[in-house]
Amino acid sequence: MLRTGIHIITFIAHCETALHIGGSQDEMQIGGTDNPVIKNPATDAPYIPGSSLKGKMRGELEKELGRFKLDGNPADRDDGRPCGCAREECAVCRIFGAHYNPDSQLGPSRILVRDGRLRSGNAVTEIKYETAINRIGGSALTGTLRNSERVPEGAEFQMEIVVQVYENDDAFHYTRRYGDQSGYEGDDALQAVVADGLYLVEVTGLGGGISRGSGQVSFRDFKLDGSSEWQFRSSGS
Ligand SMILES: [Zn+2]
Repeated sequence: MLRTGIHIITFIAHCETALHIGGSQDEMQIGGTDNPVIKNPATDAPYIPGSSLKGKMRGELEKELGRFKLDGNPADRDDGRPCGCAREECAVCRIFGAHYNPDSQLGPSRILVRDGRLRSGNAVTEIKYETAINRIGGSALTGTLRNSERVPEGAEFQMEIVVQVYENDDAFHYTRRYGDQSGYEGDDALQAVVADGLYLVEVTGLGGGISRGSGQVSFRDFKLDGSSEWQFRSSGS
């Protein structure tokens, strides 16, 4: 299996609302939060793990392309798991890898998603407090106060996705669900899948607490291979 090309797509993740991607409480600090964000242990700066972005792109594309299985049968162990069908036409298995399928002929995961480094501002985070509400009186319920650390609105992270093209991608077709909704083949089809995945993360959000206001991100300033504007995410697409 011959690799025929590598592209590097760089962009900025801008926090439209505060962002919470959970870290560990290994280093418990007095006065620390119940629910910290993940940070670089050397610099204490929050970052976006590549695995978080890649996993969210995959999950959203699985829903979008009907690769998300939920037939309500408790005996079905595949229910709700990542797609591992390894079919030629499955964009999810080709781009992200066929989940737990050692017989896959599709080859390696086509994208590598790097950890996103905090780009602007400083490493200061905010602590958000939440509580449950008594449905009758409308007051806070005793004992329900909890807190969560978040990267504040406006923070920006430098992101990078490496796209690897293999010879057997020549036969791959993909029609964009968003943007220009056009059909693409080969190298372009791989990039079109990435563009749709990123768009879906912008629409749905990243990290925890999304349904309560956290995690709205926008992706900007796309560059392909260091210089040119990325055609799949040029302004207006
Ligand atoms: Zn699949």
